[in-house]
Amino acid sequence: MKNSLKIKPGSDKPLLIVGQGLAGTVLCSYLLKNNIRFKVVDNNHYAAATHAAAGLINPVTGRGYVKSWMIEELLPEARSCYAGLSELLGIDLIHYPCIYRSIHLPAQINKWNASTSRDGYETYVEALKSQSPYSGLIKAPLKFGLIRQAMQVNISDMISQFRTYLESRQLLISEAFEHEAVKIKEICVNYMDQDYSAIIFCEGWQALHNPWFNDLPFQPAKGEALVIEIDNLETADILRDEIFIAPLKEKICWSGGSYIWDFEDHLPTEQWKKEWLDKLQGLLNTPFKIIKHLAGIRPSVKGRRPLIGQHPVLDRLYIFNGMGTKGTSLAPFWARHFVEDHLMKGTPVDDAVNINRFNF
Ligand SMILES: Cc1cc2nc3c(=O)[nH]c(=O)nc-3n(C[C@H](O)[C@H](O)[C@H](O)COP(=O)(O)OP(=O)(O)OC[C@H]3O[C@@H](n4cnc5c(N)ncnc54)[C@H](O)[C@@H]3O)c2cc1C
Repeated sequence: MKNSLKIKPGSDKPLLIVGQGLAGTVLCSYLLKNNIRFKVVDNNHYAAATHAAAGLINPVTGRGYVKSWMIEELLPEARSCYAGLSELLGIDLIHYPCIYRSIHLPAQINKWNASTSRDGYETYVEALKSQSPYSGLIKAPLKFGLIRQAMQVNISDMISQFRTYLESRQLLISEAFEHEAVKIKEICVNYMDQDYSAIIFCEGWQALHNPWFNDLPFQPAKGEALVIEIDNLETADILRDEIFIAPLKEKICWSGGSYIWDFEDHLPTEQWKKEWLDKLQGLLNTPFKIIKHLAGIRPSVKGRRPLIGQHPVLDRLYIFNGMGTKGTSLAPFWARHFVEDHLMKGTPVDDAVNINRFNF
């Protein structure tokens, strides 16, 4: 039987958090809330997925228009977590847009109606519409499905500002973590001559280089996105046609969402940009221009559930990772559970996300 930490607020040895993308930042916010001491090591977001992401939480997704896994539980925690981080950092991180889904075929109308008329969908959808704020700007679909209760969180600014917050309090070690420098002791772990009560790895896809957790079934998926400026755009709501258009401010929008499983590096590619421009030109009938081209690698996982928990042998090594394509909604709920239930009280990590579901 492994020991659980049962960390007390203000306890003497800090935790060491490795990685300060979305997962590490959200985790730290719950440590702060519970007065648990910590330090962070981060190598300045080398290929961090968080900088390429739109930060959307979409309650009804996919070709089948189905509710996202656990959305009822995830949304309230996300609202309160990002409101807390907005207050802490003094910036407004959250925006509550509607999402308009273009419906081009009669079969999709039937599917939308059949799926969204089920119990529990009434909070998230409205009857199909003929018009949307995008009418006139895009090739007209047959109908628009309107999705409510979405959120958009500026997670890229959030991690940059949180980095500054950590630096100003001497809580950040700004360098690459060296796994071989970890010394496991009986009642703590030592890293670079400092004792910590435990290490929690939040390295995103770079967990592939972690000698203790790299056998977990990560399936990294590269994604690219364009930041574009669209003439005549006058809405803050989101369009989901074949591709996403998510307004960031005024006429500036994020557009992306591709999944590339076989990739050479983390960099933006000319081939993807060309393909995406073709899609945008086919969709928009108003001028637009490219402002920025982004790329990142998602820490996706076989089975699409987060990877959370204690190493099977080394009690003081933990992982909080595997946020995949939906980190914005998943991270707050699971960070609260991990910190307040597991690390503080010793309650087992929920089976759905516990790494002990895999033999590694
Ligand atoms: C194009 C794109 C669009 C997306 N859109 C959305 C969206 O709309 N909504 C949504 O919810 N999700 C979206 N995602 C997914 C989302 O980005 C991820 O779920 C989330 O950002 C993962 O966060 P993370 O902290 O686990 O990983 P990362 O953001 O990759 O952060 C890992 C951090 O660890 C650091 N690190 C790693 N190894 C080391 C080391 N050895 N030493 C020091 N530091 C280290 C890195 O520098 C980095 O800062 C998108 C992803 C992509 C690529």
